[in-house]
Amino acid sequence: MSADAGQVIIVSEGECEELVGRAQAFEAVQDVFGAMARGDAYNFPVVREAIGHADALYGFKSGFDRAGMVLGVKSGGYWPGNLAKGLTNHQSTVFLFDPDTGRLTALVAGNYLTAVRTAASSSVSIAHLARKDAKVLGMVGAGHQAGFQLRAAAEQRDFEKVVAWNPHPEMLPKLAAVAQEIGLPFEAVDPEELGAQADAIITITSAFEPLLMKGWIKPGTHIACMGTDTKGKQEVDAELVAAATAFTDEVAQSVTIGECQHAIGSGLIKEGDIATIGAVINATHPGRTSDDEITLFDGTGVGLQDLAVASVAADLAAKAGKGQHATL
Ligand code: NAD
Repeated sequence: MSADAGQVIIVSEGECEELVGRAQAFEAVQDVFGAMARGDAYNFPVVREAIGHADALYGFKSGFDRAGMVLGVKSGGYWPGNLAKGLTNHQSTVFLFDPDTGRLTALVAGNYLTAVRTAASSSVSIAHLARKDAKVLGMVGAGHQAGFQLRAAAEQRDFEKVVAWNPHPEMLPKLAAVAQEIGLPFEAVDPEELGAQADAIITITSAFEPLLMKGWIKPGTHIACMGTDTKGKQEVDAELVAAATAFTDEVAQSVTIGECQHAIGSGLIKEGDIATIGAVINATHPGRTSDDEITLFDGTGVGLQDLAVASVAADLAAKAGKGQHATL
C-alpha cells in the first residue's frame, strides 16, 4: 500500500438523516458563525456556473474553520429536470480533508444536510434576535426547504400559531401537515395579514420580486430572509431592509447575492450597516436592543455551514460504526 493511502468514510443520505438532528445542526451552525465573526473561519470564493448541459447550475462552496479544524468543499448545484426523474433538483456532496495533510477524510451526502443547515441558520437568528415573547410564526414559502424551516423555528420560541402564504397556494397543504405534526394551528393568509399577525417571519422562496412590503410588518418583528442566494433574487421590499436592523451570515455575500443586495444597490443602506449574526453570538454586538425594533437576518448560505454539519455527520458515523470505509 502506498504511504499516501488513507481511510475515507462515506456517509449516505439515509445515515445523515439518522445521525444529524436539528439540535446538532443548530449547534454546529451557531459555532461556525461565531468562528467566522472571530476571524477563525473563512469561506473561499464561491464558483457557480451554468454548464451548458441539462440546464444545470454547478459549483463549489469551500472554506476552512480553524477553530473546528474543518476543511472541505461542497460541490453540486441545481438540475431542473431531476424531479421528472424522481430525484431532487438540488444535488450536493461534501468532501472533507485533513487540514494537517490535505488528505481526503470523508465523503458525505449533502442534500438532507443542506436543508437541515439552512433551517439551523434561520433558527439561530430567531434564537438570538426574535422577541422572547414571539407567539405567531409567519411562513412565506412552501417548497422543499419550508418544512425544515418550520420545524427548526418552532423549537426556538413558544409559538402558538403559524400563519403562511405562498405564491403557489396549492403547495401550502404540505406545510400545513408539518404544522399539524408539531401541534401548531395553521392558517393560510394573504401576505398583508401575515405581516399584521406574525412576530417572526421566515421567507424561503425562489422569488425575484419583493413579496413582503415595509408597511405590512409590525414593529418588533424578526424576519429571516432565506431564499435569496443569487444575484437578482429578492423576497422583501428594499425599504423594509433599510428600516430594519440588518444581520447576515456573511456580509460579502449579503451585499452581492443576498437579500441586502437591493437596499445596497439603491443606496438605502451601506455595507457597514449590516452586522454579522456571529458578532451577536459572540456578544460583541448587542443584537436586538428594543421591543419595537425590526430585526432582519439575511441568510445567504455559506459553505462553512455545510462543512460544519458534514463534519458532525462524519464524526457521528465513525463513532456509531456506520458509513462505508474505503482506502484511497
Ligand atoms: P422549491 O423549488 O422546493 O420551492 C420554491 C418556493 O419558491 C415555493 O414556495 C414556490 O412557491 C416559490 N416560488 C417559485 N418560483 C417563484 C417565483 N417566481 N416567485 C415567488 N415565489 C416563487 O425550493 P426550496 O428547495 O424550498 O428552496 C427555496 C429557496 O431557498 C430557493 O430560492 C433556494 O435557492 C433557496 N435556498 C437558500 C439556502 C440558503 O442557505 N440561504 C439554502 C437552500 C435553498
